[in-house]
This record gives sequence, C-alpha cells and structure tokens, in this order.
Amino acid sequence: MRLAGRVAVVTGAGSKRGIGRATALTLAREGADVAACDLDGPGAEETAALVRGLDRRALGLRMDVSDEEQVRATIARAQAELGPVDILVNNAGITRSTPLLDISAAEWDLVQDVDLRGTFFCTKAVLPGMIERRYGRIICVSSIAGKMGGGFFGSSHYAAAKAGIAGFAKSVARQMARYAITCNAVAPGLADTDIGLDTLDPELRERVRETTSQAVPLGRLASAQDVAYAILFLASDEAAYITGHELDVNGGHLMD
Ligand code: NAD
Repeated sequence: MRLAGRVAVVTGAGSKRGIGRATALTLAREGADVAACDLDGPGAEETAALVRGLDRRALGLRMDVSDEEQVRATIARAQAELGPVDILVNNAGITRSTPLLDISAAEWDLVQDVDLRGTFFCTKAVLPGMIERRYGRIICVSSIAGKMGGGFFGSSHYAAAKAGIAGFAKSVARQMARYAITCNAVAPGLADTDIGLDTLDPELRERVRETTSQAVPLGRLASAQDVAYAILFLASDEAAYITGHELDVNGGHLMD
C-alpha cells in the first residue's frame, strides 16, 4: 500500500458522486486514514463511514473552508484524533455560470472565498505540522477553466479563482520545498459530478455531455475516479520530486 500510516484531509469530500469522495476512498484503499470535510456535514460523515468500511480510521467533519477559524479548529481536531496530517487535498469548490457583466460583487466574493481563500486557509492550517515533521503533500484542485478563461459552468470569477489556485500552489511549492513539502495542482476537464451537469435539465445535460465528449480526444468526460487517481499519484512517495506542477486530467481537451 502506497500510503500506509499516512493521514489525509480531503475538503469537499461529502458529495456522493464528487471528486472529494472518490479521492477519500482512493487514498484510503492505499492505506491512508482520512478526515473527510465538507460544508455538508452528513455527506462528510457518509464518506467517513465508507472509509471505515475499508478498515481505515476516518472522521466526517462539517467544515466551511471559507471560515478561517472553523478551518483551524477542524484541522486541529483531525490532528488530535487521527494524528499529524501528511496529505491535504484542497478540493472544495463552487462555481456559477453567470456571464461576466452580470456578476455582482457579492457573487464574485463568494466564489473567491470558497475556491481561493478556502485553499489558502486549509493550506495555512496544515503547514506548521508539516514543517515540523519535514513532510507534506498538498494537492489543490484547479480546473481547465483557469487555463481556458472559463468553461461551460464556470464564468470569470471561477476562472480567476482556479488560475489563482494554480499560482498559489506554485508559491507554496517554492516556499515549502526546503521542508520536503510538495504542493501541486490537478486541473480536471469537465467531469461528470454534481457541480456542473446535475444543475442542468436532462436534455441540456445530454447535449453538453455529447458536445464536450466530441471535443475531448479521449472521447468522454472525466470521471471523479480519473481525477482521484491523479491526486493519489501526487500524494504518494513516488511523486517526491514533483512540485509546483499543474497536472491536466482532461482527456487531451487542452494540451499546453
Ligand atoms: P461537487 O459539487 O460534487 O463537490 C464539491 C464539494 O465541495 C461539495 O461536496 C460541496 O458541498 C463542497 N463545498 C462547497 N462549498 C464548500 C465550503 N464552503 N466548504 C467546504 N466544502 C464546500 O463537485 P466536484 O466536481 O466533485 O468538485 C470538486 C472540485 O473539482 C471543485 O474544486 C471543482 O471546482 C473542481 N473541478 C470540477 C470539475 C467538474 O467538471 N466537475 C472540473 C474542474 C474542476
């Protein structure tokens, strides 16, 4: 097992079909104990129960990543109950498809608060322990939208936040390298999860699925599991010499 004895915190891990839950289970299958955190407390607990079903220790914790105090307290609880955090997956995120000129200041702030500030708060909360132990793997979930100026579901605020996450990950990588802490991002293409497709009516959903699949050389949308495997790799010891990288998981949709 590649992560035996490791403790992972996964944010946004409460969604049934989401990348966070798939990641929590994938890390657990490789031996990690997991704190599954989400704004949706019952969803987080459901993920934790699935992890326990794999014979790993797990906590399901309600945590709003945009609230720094809550993040600090929740990470402290996870460390107290599971042990020092080795792996952080900054996965929690929201999007809005509002056209640029209709985005209000409040909506702009909401997307930045969850996607970008949340990533900053969670990273800041786990770093002191990682620095002390000279070990850490931080993986941030950015998006193809940050590279392409948005996407079907993500407008300017989402593209800005996701591009910001990629820049932030590089800065963490640069400043924390001396402590053997790596920080990378994964940039999924359109994935079949609740954040996007499920908000559409069935007919439009099918049309988006079809047109996007046609634009993707590998001919399909990403699955949550596709993204989870990329996160697993970056969380493993095999990726010890990779830091400051943004790994595309987009079926060839964008090759840069
Ligand atoms: P999802 O909606 O299933 O999962 C997002 C999770 O984040 C949900 O469980 C939600 O409750 C949680 N969340 C929302 N606000 C939160 C907050 N303030 N604090 C804590 N948790 C909060 O969608 P997903 O596709 O699994 O998204 C996971 C990540 O992947 C997101 O960062 C998203 O931007 C990114 N992403 C998704 C796609 C896609 O097409 N699905 C593409 C690129 C990137």
